[in-house]
Amino acid sequence: MKQRAIVWFRRDFRLADNPALRAAVDGDFDGIIPVFIHAPDEEGDWAPGGAQRVWQHESLAALADALEAIGSRLVIRQGPTQSTLDDLIDESGAGAVFWNRLYEPGLVRRDADIESHLGQAYPELEVRHFQADLLHEPWTVETQAGKPYKVFTPFWRTISERSIRQPKARPSQLPAVWSRIGSCDLADLGLRPAKDWTTTILEHWTPGEDGAQARLETFLEDTVDNYDNDRDRPAVHGTSYLSPHLHWGEISPFQVMHRAEEWLSEQSGGAIHEHIQSFQSEIGWREFSRHVLYHFPDTPDEPLDDRFKAFPWETPDTAFDDWKAGMTGIPMVDAGMRELYATGYMHNRLRMTVASFLTKNLRIAWQHGERWFWDTLFDADLGNNTLGWQWAAGCGADAAPFFRIFNPARQGERFDKNGDYVRRWVPELAELSNKHLQEPWNAPDKALEAAGVVLGKTYPKPVVDLKASRREALEAFEQVKN
Ligand SMILES: Cc1cc2nc3c(=O)[nH]c(=O)nc-3n(C[C@H](O)[C@H](O)[C@H](O)COP(=O)(O)OP(=O)(O)OC[C@H]3O[C@@H](n4cnc5c(N)ncnc54)[C@H](O)[C@@H]3O)c2cc1C
Repeated sequence: MKQRAIVWFRRDFRLADNPALRAAVDGDFDGIIPVFIHAPDEEGDWAPGGAQRVWQHESLAALADALEAIGSRLVIRQGPTQSTLDDLIDESGAGAVFWNRLYEPGLVRRDADIESHLGQAYPELEVRHFQADLLHEPWTVETQAGKPYKVFTPFWRTISERSIRQPKARPSQLPAVWSRIGSCDLADLGLRPAKDWTTTILEHWTPGEDGAQARLETFLEDTVDNYDNDRDRPAVHGTSYLSPHLHWGEISPFQVMHRAEEWLSEQSGGAIHEHIQSFQSEIGWREFSRHVLYHFPDTPDEPLDDRFKAFPWETPDTAFDDWKAGMTGIPMVDAGMRELYATGYMHNRLRMTVASFLTKNLRIAWQHGERWFWDTLFDADLGNNTLGWQWAAGCGADAAPFFRIFNPARQGERFDKNGDYVRRWVPELAELSNKHLQEPWNAPDKALEAAGVVLGKTYPKPVVDLKASRREALEAFEQVKN
């Protein structure tokens, strides 16, 4: 029997398919100490934003409950991480520290420092870290020229030919943690804001491992068989809503991929194969975003395409405030921004639309939008958010070309044909007919009057002319194009 093992939970808030925990269980230790160390400063500018912290609180509570149910408990400490780990090793006489790897640049550096410190300070200590958050480690995937990928399709082709390991078993029992190993209360971390906004915003979500598993099952049962068609329609629940669960590691990509395959094998024929494949390729985009983030660690702040460093962005002004508040006078944009603020989530089609509008029609630098999403999204994720914003602004890996400027009204007509989504989030336009809903500024006075809409009073006039601003954006692009 060996000494105790510390399992350092970071963003892997699950018991099943948790390789660090599994290694401790299989390692014949006489005690296992699951610990979470709160040290947001160590994530620099990209410490969890407001919405993420709310989720983190709930998710940690769920993890603590799950550990208690199998005889253990979650030890919660406040950072700095290095000295906190030292204290825990000294207090417990631990002989091992295990964790699962993450790929954000600040965390990669921090973790490397901790590993080297532990190696020097405790030469006998067993320090191991594991692959858990990604199907394929970023350093194992490269182009034929030996470079990181910047284009999704060949990246996905390469990794989808490789097999992935089976999910690891969930422990059914863990040894009790010594009572003398102290812990602070979850509430001490101050992750939940005082105001009760969280109660409503959490109504549609169940943070934690059980909630994540249930979400996946519901998606497979009810939604996946039309995923390819419905995933672009914001008015219907056509996607998995797994993003915050994946971000916090309440479910692993291995579990998602294998369960989707298993589900497929249980079905009889039909087009479901294609829908599952499409869904799996979205998990592929998640892999791609971390691949790009790992190899190009400056991209949360700097465009991957250097030309955009000289782009003539506008200074954020009141139009930026209108964008954040969902008061731009462009119904699709406002609907998306209001959904975000009310629910901590925004449909992907809208994320693309509002990001294109901000960066091209308003010509406000993508970093401002990226930061707002960071604070308001439950699923804010440095890899996916960076990739999404740079994609929309035309300056990132496999990005939409800058000259492809979404027209939000056309997006609405195409993807919200019946106007259900806009009417849900912009109820002041609910009585407008479909013909005028997406462009109220072009509606005849009579139609506006009949719908009880007074532009500039009950609903804003557009903050910008879509056509003119499109032209100006293209002219601005000419300045940096070559
Ligand atoms: C401007 C912009 C910002 C974004 N910011 C984030 C973010 O902070 N966090 C985040 O998780 N996603 C982000 N996305 C990607 C995408 O919008 C969300 O992952 C998706 O809407 C989540 O809903 P879902 O779980 O129902 O998706 P599903 O369609 O069910 O997809 C399943 C999973 O695949 C991954 N995925 C799906 N689409 C993408 C994508 N385009 N890029 C990378 N991974 C993807 C997610 O992990 C998602 O949970 C952003 C996209 C854009 C355009």
